Amino acid sequence: MSTSPRPSSQELPSTQSTSPNDVSANTPGKKSHSILMNFLEGSRVVTLDELRENDITRYQVTKFYNQQIKDSGYYEQLKYIVEPSTQEFESPGSLDTSGEHNNTVVPGLQHKYAQTGLLLVTDRCASYCRYCFRKRIVGNDSDEIAPDYAQVAGYIRQHPEMNNVLAGIRLS
Ligand code: SF4
Repeated sequence: MSTSPRPSSQELPSTQSTSPNDVSANTPGKKSHSILMNFLEGSRVVTLDELRENDITRYQVTKFYNQQIKDSGYYEQLKYIVEPSTQEFESPGSLDTSGEHNNTVVPGLQHKYAQTGLLLVTDRCASYCRYCFRKRIVGNDSDEIAPDYAQVAGYIRQHPEMNNVLAGIRLS
């Protein structure tokens, strides 16, 4: 692991401009290019292949959110929300920690609590939180996202006890 000193918020280049979240570069067969990433241990160059091989969740944060963190007065604490650490190479967080597979009744629809359904409609996020329990999904082309809303609607129709459905990629 790198031991280089951590940069201050003023030293950090724009997170947006250094994001590896380049969809076109993720296309199979395309040559990966090197990118500069602001790991907590300091900036360093990695390749998209290196990130993929280690199951590292995409790195992206909106300019607004990034600025909010820098201006918060708690930069050293809050930066951990969005900035990847090299420790993720050792523990990428790919497990289904809340057992979502077990509660999936049709692809993309979970039915854990009688009254509530959870519909996963996207595997993209505006910011890829480093603590995310859905790292196995976010930023990937996941087969856990609802591919067939008619099938989902059919299940809901057959379960009148379900009176609300949360749509999104979050649990809450
Ligand atoms: S699913 Fe939620 S916790 Fe995970 S990256 Fe997206 S916003 Fe963050």
